Amino acid sequence: MQQRLDRNQRRCVEQVARQKETTCDTCGSTDLSSGPMALGTLGTLNVEVLLSCNNESAHPEGAAQTLELSGNEARRCGIDIS
Ligand SMILES: [Zn+2]
Repeated sequence: MQQRLDRNQRRCVEQVARQKETTCDTCGSTDLSSGPMALGTLGTLNVEVLLSCNNESAHPEGAAQTLELSGNEARRCGIDIS
């Protein structure tokens, strides 16, 4: 129930994150990068991707944020986990 994301898919996920106005929990930045994997949620069409925040000065150890995509959003990015 997971899919490796290529460069274009990751860029698409980052666009979805911006559209949803996703911000880093730790510093509030919207400069988030998609992680390399998408995880399907058992029993739903939703897909989760871990985002990492690029604002390293706020938290040098890094900060991660989960983005939940609907089935439609995931398919728009070419992610098909079923
Ligand atoms: Zn941050």
